[in-house]
Amino acid sequence: GRTPLIAGNWKMNLDHLQAVALVQKLHWSLKDAEHAADSVDVTVFPPFTDLRSVQTLVDADEIPFGVGAQDLSVHDSGAYTGEISGAFLAKLGCSSVIIGHSERREYHAEDDDVVAAKTRAALTHGLVPVICVGETAEDLEKHGASAVPIAQLEKALEPVASNAEIVVAYEPVWAIGSGQAATPEQAQDVCAKLRDVIREKMGDEAAASTRILYGGSVKSTNIATFMREPDIDGALVGGGSLKVDEFSSIIRFQK
Ligand code: 13P
Repeated sequence: GRTPLIAGNWKMNLDHLQAVALVQKLHWSLKDAEHAADSVDVTVFPPFTDLRSVQTLVDADEIPFGVGAQDLSVHDSGAYTGEISGAFLAKLGCSSVIIGHSERREYHAEDDDVVAAKTRAALTHGLVPVICVGETAEDLEKHGASAVPIAQLEKALEPVASNAEIVVAYEPVWAIGSGQAATPEQAQDVCAKLRDVIREKMGDEAAASTRILYGGSVKSTNIATFMREPDIDGALVGGGSLKVDEFSSIIRFQK
């Protein structure tokens, strides 16, 4: 089976001091909890400026969280002012990197070509790309739920070898930060189709082992309903990852 993955995308929240406080509190909360969460992987995705502090803390205190970045450059190094290389992220101990989040697609004009190039860059540097796909409310109305995410994933997987480790996150744009999550049935339907894309592009083994996450208004009160679905292997959590008690409850979901 696939180990569930609960990922916290902090977006542009928490400076490095707040980040250290949150990670420590989260660790204590999980240790003290009645229901342990030992068969769940947890990864946090802080802003770039927090990564060094969080990584140092995780290493020194043996806190069992993965640390990832929210974006990376398509380039390895050079005259690209303001960009961050995947090589630097790998050197900092990042395990993974979010790619193609809808906020980057919308506010930074990242198209499917950029997402494919960033996916390639992540894999080049040994980072697991967390490839985000999802339809807007307008897409949903025009094309249904699955057409846009399927097309986005097909394009993103073009540079990906069949033995590469990747994570896919299905995040309907209309569900992000809206308090209006997809229903588990809707999300399962799209995630099953995304697994078919992985199978077509990468083969049976990759389809069986790749974790597909749902994201969009995930809370402690709805996480279990998503985790019961066969093709949903975890969650990419935004707002709910910023509060210790809430994120701790999400991690300790009971099916
Ligand atoms: P919310 O959990 O705040 O809806 O955000 C989801 C998201 O965009 C995670 O990447």
